[in-house]
Amino acid sequence: MTDYNKAMKKHLRTQELRKACKKTKRRQKTKKPRRKNWIDAAYDEYDELKFDTFERIMPRGERERRRSVEQMTNANAEINRPEEEFTAKSPQEPSGDPDRLQGQVIEVSTGMCRVNLGEESILCSLRGSLTAAETGFTNIVAVGDRVVVSKNGSSEGVIEAILPRDKILARPDVFYNHLRQIVVANADQVLIVASWRQPHLWAELIDRYLIASEINDLTGLICINKIDLVEDQAEFKAAIHPYLQLGIQLILTSARDGTGIHQLREVLRDHTTVLTGLSGVGKSSLLNAVHTGLQLRTKQVSSRWSQGRHTTSLSSLLPLDFGGYVIDTPGIREFGLVGVHRSDLAYHFPEMARLANRCQFTDCTHLDEPACAIRRAVATNAISENRYHSYQKIYATLPE
Ligand code: GDP
Ligand code: ZN
Repeated sequence: MTDYNKAMKKHLRTQELRKACKKTKRRQKTKKPRRKNWIDAAYDEYDELKFDTFERIMPRGERERRRSVEQMTNANAEINRPEEEFTAKSPQEPSGDPDRLQGQVIEVSTGMCRVNLGEESILCSLRGSLTAAETGFTNIVAVGDRVVVSKNGSSEGVIEAILPRDKILARPDVFYNHLRQIVVANADQVLIVASWRQPHLWAELIDRYLIASEINDLTGLICINKIDLVEDQAEFKAAIHPYLQLGIQLILTSARDGTGIHQLREVLRDHTTVLTGLSGVGKSSLLNAVHTGLQLRTKQVSSRWSQGRHTTSLSSLLPLDFGGYVIDTPGIREFGLVGVHRSDLAYHFPEMARLANRCQFTDCTHLDEPACAIRRAVATNAISENRYHSYQKIYATLPE
């Protein structure tokens, strides 16, 4: 057979194979059930975008990862102990086989992580066999991940496995839209920090963050800082009233005079808290007030980090000396209302959701339709005007 014939034959065979592949793929597709009405449709879509339970967010390949972790757990009784009992082994301990330890990732940079092992934190590389391929995510490891680390007497370690995540906060990847980037794993609450003045309290932003927290199944808490700048008490009370009515935990602070710092500490204790809020509202001042050693420690971490091989830290988790972690990264502050459509916005305002089915039109936008139960409630002050303004502003920025 001539070379040409051989090449032709190979080409035809490849084409046949491709066609067969396509056919089987098409057959695998299951038909989506017809949706009953627009509310169900909205909630279905919303559901698909919610990453609350671990099962739902379990990436492909996670099962294998779990299995390998299980194997490691059996091989080493150390990591079989419950996490709270876990204490890191002393680095001086004799090491024949590599020591397997459990820790939490507190800083991630390209190809390297800093892992908190309890008594110390070490730089770790990633075991080459760990991959993000087929997980649906672009990153293999994120801050907050609980990991198994092997340490062979040296000061650096290797991440062998990533333990199952409770929750993740993810956003669409900048370059690959079909994939998501995990911004933080295992966080459980969001502290929305705003200031009364300088900058002026921005209710719309608070409301956006409350929705974003809810979508990601994280508890949203509001901290209003710089209350030393409150001049008109009545105006202040009116501004915070809707949140009190909704039962959202409010922490009123002044990093300047120390008001509310004790309460803030209690709110953060033993939680992994995502910090959000405009620049200048006082996040760093508050962190330094709740944890006096933090400033020092952050500086130490970054200078040690910059001596390492990789200097650009993507995000970091700050361990609090009284228990818990705080994550404060610009990347996190961008997390928005991905997946929320105009037609389901009112359902994210609990006080509006209650009334939405009383409007005359089932597809009422609550903006200008007659006989709108929500606008009626705003007129009689049953719904706060500020919250309704947020609704209008957010509505205008959402897709149909
Ligand atoms: P961040 O950008 O959110 O981290 O805000 P910073 O902590 O850097 O604070 C911004 C500015 O607000 C600084 O000049 C602080 O001194 C000031 N600031 C912080 N907290 C308070 C407060 O409770 N009251 C007043 N009056 N100023 C504050
Ligand atoms: Zn309406």
